[in-house]
Amino acid sequence: MIDAFSIQISFLIYEAVFCLLAALVYAASTDKLKLRKRIVVGLNIACSAMLVCEYSFYAYKGSKTPLDVAIMYIVNAAVYYLIIILMFFYAMLISVRLFERFDLKKDMPCRKRIIAVYIIAIVGIALVTISQFNGIYYYFDENNVYQRGPLFSLATLVPTLGTILVASMVIQFREKMSLSQLFVLISYLIFPLAGGVIQVLFYGNSLLNICIGLSVLLMFFENVVNKEKEVIKASKTEVRTGLANEHGYIEWLNSMKGKRDLMDYAVVFFDLRKFSDINRSYGIENGNRVLAAFGNIMIKYINKDEILGRQFGNQFVAIVRKHNLDAFLKVLKQIDVSFTDILTGQEAQVSLSARAGVYMIDRTDLAGEDILVFAGQALSTAKAKKADDVVWLTQEIIDSIADQKKLESEIRNGLINNEFRPFYQPKVNSSTGMMCGAEALSRWYHNGEVLAPGRYIPIMEPTDAICKLDFCILKATCEDIAKWLKEGIRVPQISVNISRRNLDDPNIVKNIDEVVTGAGIPKDLIEIEVTENKDEAAISVLKNFVDSLHELGYKASIDDFGSASSSLMLLREINFDTLKIDKGFVDLAKQKDLAILTHIAKIGKELHVDIVAEGVEHKEQIKTLDNLGVNVIQGFYFDRPLSHDDMTERLKSPVYDV
Ligand code: C2E
Ligand code: CA
Ligand code: CA
Repeated sequence: MIDAFSIQISFLIYEAVFCLLAALVYAASTDKLKLRKRIVVGLNIACSAMLVCEYSFYAYKGSKTPLDVAIMYIVNAAVYYLIIILMFFYAMLISVRLFERFDLKKDMPCRKRIIAVYIIAIVGIALVTISQFNGIYYYFDENNVYQRGPLFSLATLVPTLGTILVASMVIQFREKMSLSQLFVLISYLIFPLAGGVIQVLFYGNSLLNICIGLSVLLMFFENVVNKEKEVIKASKTEVRTGLANEHGYIEWLNSMKGKRDLMDYAVVFFDLRKFSDINRSYGIENGNRVLAAFGNIMIKYINKDEILGRQFGNQFVAIVRKHNLDAFLKVLKQIDVSFTDILTGQEAQVSLSARAGVYMIDRTDLAGEDILVFAGQALSTAKAKKADDVVWLTQEIIDSIADQKKLESEIRNGLINNEFRPFYQPKVNSSTGMMCGAEALSRWYHNGEVLAPGRYIPIMEPTDAICKLDFCILKATCEDIAKWLKEGIRVPQISVNISRRNLDDPNIVKNIDEVVTGAGIPKDLIEIEVTENKDEAAISVLKNFVDSLHELGYKASIDDFGSASSSLMLLREINFDTLKIDKGFVDLAKQKDLAILTHIAKIGKELHVDIVAEGVEHKEQIKTLDNLGVNVIQGFYFDRPLSHDDMTERLKSPVYDV
C-alpha cells in the first residue's frame, strides 16, 4: 500500500537526483553564455542539496540514536539556509536573463530591488542562525520531535518576499520574453506559494520544497531549450546598446534579397554629431551610457518589421519602411538623452542630433553589404557637405564616388610616373625687397593640366600616398637646388612640407637626411614645415621629430600657426625656428585679427622665433605687418607659386618692388 508519505519521500529523492544530474550535464557542456550557465548549475546543485536534506530529515525523523539526532539537526538547518541561497540564485538568474548582469553598480536596472534582495538574503541567513539558539523558527521538543517556533511563518515569508521582488522584475520586463518563458521564470513564485498554502493546511508534508524543485527543473529545461536561440540572438546583438550588430542587419538584408518587399525599405546610415565632445566632457564610460540610452530611445521609433543597429562608435544603421522614413528622420534632428553620470551619480542630460545618409532601396538583387555601402556613401557625402542633415543617395553621388576611386588609382600611378613636381613660392623681405626664401608646393601634371593640391591632397592625406608625395617633392626640390647651384645661381633656404602622417615612421629624419645629403646640397638650404594639428597627444612625437632635425642641422617651421587649438602648447614644448602665421589672421578680415597678429609678433620676437606672414595679397597688409616688425612675406602680392623655369628666372633677379 502506497501512502502519501512514501510518495512525498520518493518525490524528494527523485527530484534531488534530477537536479543533480541536470547540474552535472550542464556543467560538462560547453556554453557561450558562461555566467548564466554557472548560475543555472549553482541553482540546481543548491536545490538538489536542499531536497536531499529535506529527504534525510524525513528519513531520520523519530530516530533517537545520538548520531541520527545530530544528522536531523544539521539537515534541517541546512534546508532553511539553502532556501535562502536558492532565492539568491533565482535573483541572479533573472537579473542575468533580463540585463546580462548582476551587480550593484549605479546604472544597474532595478538596482533598488536587487539591493533589497541582498539585504533579505543576509537577514534570512541571520534569522536561521539565531533560531538555532532560541528556537524562534523551530525547535525539537524533549522527545526530539520537530516543533514550529513562534516566528515560524517568517521562515517562509522572508524568502518569499525576496522571490516576489525578483518576480516583479520578470513581470515588468515581460516584453523581453515569450509567454511560456514568462510562466517558467515566474513559476518559482507560483509553485512554492501554492505548495506552501497546502502545506500550511496539511501540516507535516513537504509540498513547498517539492514545488521549489519542480520550478528549478523547469527553469533548467527552459534555459537549455532556449539557449540556442539566445546564442544566435547574442551573436547578432551589439553588447553596449542591445541593438542589432553588423552581422545582424546584414543577415536580415540578405534574407530579404530577391524579395519585392525589400524595395519597400530605406536604409538610413547615421552618426551622432560631436559625440567626441560628450566623451571628452563626461568621459568614455558615460559616453557609452549615453549610447545605450540613445539606443533605448530610438528603438521605440522602430516597428517590429524594421531594424535598428549600431555599426561602431557613434554610427548607426536603421532599416525602415519608406512610409515611416520621414518620421524617423525627423526624430534624428534632436534626441534628448538622460543618463546617470557615473562620476557624480547625478542625472545628466545631453541633446543629440544626427547626420544621415539615406538609400531608398530600389532593387532586390543587391547583397546586404552592398546596400550598406550605398547608404554609407550617402553618409560620407552628408559629412563632407557639413551643412546637410540628410543626404539621399543619388546617381550623382554614385558617379562622384566612382570618380574618386578613379582619381585614387590615377594618383597612385602619378606617383610612380613622377607626375608630381614642386612649384616654388618666394618669401620676400619687405624691408629690402630681396627674396629670402621660398616654399616648395606640389603640383600635379595630369592629362595635360597642372592641378593644384586642393584636387589631390585631401584624397592622399588619409593614406600613405601623402608620405610618398612629400618625399617625391623633397627629392625633386633637392635636385632642383643642386642644379641651380651647379649653374652658379644663388639659392635661399627652401621649405618643404612634411605631413604629420610621416611622423609615424621612426626613421623619418634619417630618410630626410639621406635625400638631402644624397643630392649633395648644404643642409641649411632645407627647412621642414609641419602643420599644426588638433591632436594634442602627438606633441611629444612632434617634439622628438623637431629635436632630431635640429641634431642633424635642419631648421623646422610650424605652418598655419594659430589655426588649431594647440598653438601655444606647441610653441611652449617645441623649439621651432620659424612660425608661419596662418593666412586667416594675415587677411585682417576681423577686427580682432590685428590684436592677435600683434601678440603673435611679440611672442615670436621674445622667443627668438622667425616669423613669416603667409597669404599676403595687398600693400596695406605689408604696411601693417611692417609696423609689427614682421618682414618676411609670402603671398600673391609678390609671387604666386612658380614653375621650375619661372623660379630659375626669379632666382637670377631676386629683387622686388616693395
Ligand atoms: P600651405 O603649406 O599653407 O601653402 C600655402 C598655400 O597658400 C599654397 O596653396 C599657396 O599657393 C597659397 N597662397 C600663398 N600665397 C597666397 C595668397 O596671397 N593668397 C591666397 N589665397 N593663397 C596663397 P597651394 O599651393 O594650393 O597648397 C595648398 C596646401 O597644400 C598647402 O598649404 C599645403 O598644406 C599643401 N601642400 C602642397 N604641397 C604639399 C606637399 O608637397 N606636401 C604636403 N604635405 N602638403 C602640401
Ligand atoms: Ca606649408
Ligand atoms: Ca601655410
